[in-house]
Amino acid sequence: MKEDIRLLQTAASALNFSAGPADGLWGPKTRAGLQALRDAHQGRWGDSVLEIGRALIGLGYLAEGPLSRVWTPELDRALGALIAADGLPRSGAVTEPAPQRAGPVLRPGHGNRLYQGRAGHLVQLFVIHTTATPTGWGQGRSNAELFAEIRRWHMDKGWRDIGYHGVIFPDGEVIEGRPWGEIGAHAIGHNAGSLGYSMVPVRTIARMARAEDFYTDATLSAMRTVIVRACARTPITRIAGHNEFAAKLCPGFPVRPEDWAPAGWA
Ligand SMILES: [Zn+2]
Repeated sequence: MKEDIRLLQTAASALNFSAGPADGLWGPKTRAGLQALRDAHQGRWGDSVLEIGRALIGLGYLAEGPLSRVWTPELDRALGALIAADGLPRSGAVTEPAPQRAGPVLRPGHGNRLYQGRAGHLVQLFVIHTTATPTGWGQGRSNAELFAEIRRWHMDKGWRDIGYHGVIFPDGEVIEGRPWGEIGAHAIGHNAGSLGYSMVPVRTIARMARAEDFYTDATLSAMRTVIVRACARTPITRIAGHNEFAAKLCPGFPVRPEDWAPAGWA
């Protein structure tokens, strides 16, 4: 239990919330820091979120299971319950010795394979894109209408369908494009054996910045969910931004795979 509280204090501090010294003792500072972290949870992710999940499993507030680097509603509820219980482990939780930690979501050797096209290219690359649409684009229109417009732009180039495997909108809706088993048209030279999803920004992308500067939390978290799905379906070995393959700003920020990969991804 003490170890789990210490894990929470360390993770909170890594996310820039002071939850007191990492001494494993629950007190007003720890409570306030974790409360502030929970209040501001939107858009947080990374190894620290993974650690918080581990601690909450240890304290009995989260069921054993796959952990995520993304802040999930389950994590949110579990942390809220811990705060409400003032740091006490949930009754019935096995706290000593530390319970078996949840294993990774994926193991590099999972046997699922996705192949594309007649030549059967093994899908191992995931490419993150932006629709590069300006601020206010699509205001007042439905996601389905916007998707149809993007599809029309692509078909006007002579393509037989939208180039992406899916488009993610500011409200987090994902509209699927080409089937995963079809080669897309989204990254010249890298289409065979890859999946390409595009996010609709809420601000014009004029320079490289941070993902949060252009996309809503709902969009970013939907993208992570799509990536988790892809990694489970096929051995993705690389998660990249379009700008790694072309002289473009797309998707507007440097893609660090560790920010996007599900737990255990390798
Ligand atoms: Zn792109």
